[in-house]
Amino acid sequence: MSGRPKTKIVSECAPDVNPLIGIKQEEKRRKAREYARQYRIDHPEKIEQFRESCRRWRRNNPGEQARLTKLWQKNNPEKAKEIKRKWYKNNRDKANIMQKRYRDNNPEKFDQYHKDWELRNEEQSAQSHCNATNKWRQTHPLEAKEMKNRRRALEKNAVTEKINTEKIYERDKWICGICGRKVNKNLKYPNKFSAVLDHVLPLSKGGSHTEDNIQLAHWLCNVRALSCIKTPALCRKIAISTQHKFNKETNE
Ligand SMILES: [Zn+2]
Repeated sequence: MSGRPKTKIVSECAPDVNPLIGIKQEEKRRKAREYARQYRIDHPEKIEQFRESCRRWRRNNPGEQARLTKLWQKNNPEKAKEIKRKWYKNNRDKANIMQKRYRDNNPEKFDQYHKDWELRNEEQSAQSHCNATNKWRQTHPLEAKEMKNRRRALEKNAVTEKINTEKIYERDKWICGICGRKVNKNLKYPNKFSAVLDHVLPLSKGGSHTEDNIQLAHWLCNVRALSCIKTPALCRKIAISTQHKFNKETNE
């Protein structure tokens, strides 16, 4: 479709003109490109010299350079966007540093830009916040759980402080504060014998969400303790089955 109709038109309108001129031009350009590519391979030092002179010029004419770049970006918005995207993808660390520097130097501008962007892209913004939170939760399961607990404590007007879950586990030497038996470090929720944080005096009874009121416990022991507060009969029933299962399932 590309070559044929053109050839026909040229030969029809001007029978004297060589209809292959287009193809020849194309061939010439291809050869030129090939030559340039080979030249770059054969003369790396010359290319480096050229690049250095470009850099020097940019250093000496910062305003002019910025103006030309902006002009080009304005005339080639799609290409500029693509280049920018590629650069960000390949230079994530550098971009983060640059962004942080800009944010530190222009806090108001940055905040304003951020707010404007969120207004313009409401849906995307909500989605990205959601994604970021979910990702964080997945990579920081203990902190996420602790934050949830702290929020619950705050809702109950309890005294709260930030808890380092792992520190509490180590402090309690991986011994369950309720049943006094070892907790297997390798078990993870939803395993019933995995580690959880337990409030010694429950929040519902006015306990605080602070290190001195928090202990390590088996997940099941914690649930059982909670059930005991609500329904003592159920507590006894669970206690018996737990005893039985504990001996079978945990192995430390
Ligand atoms: Zn226990």
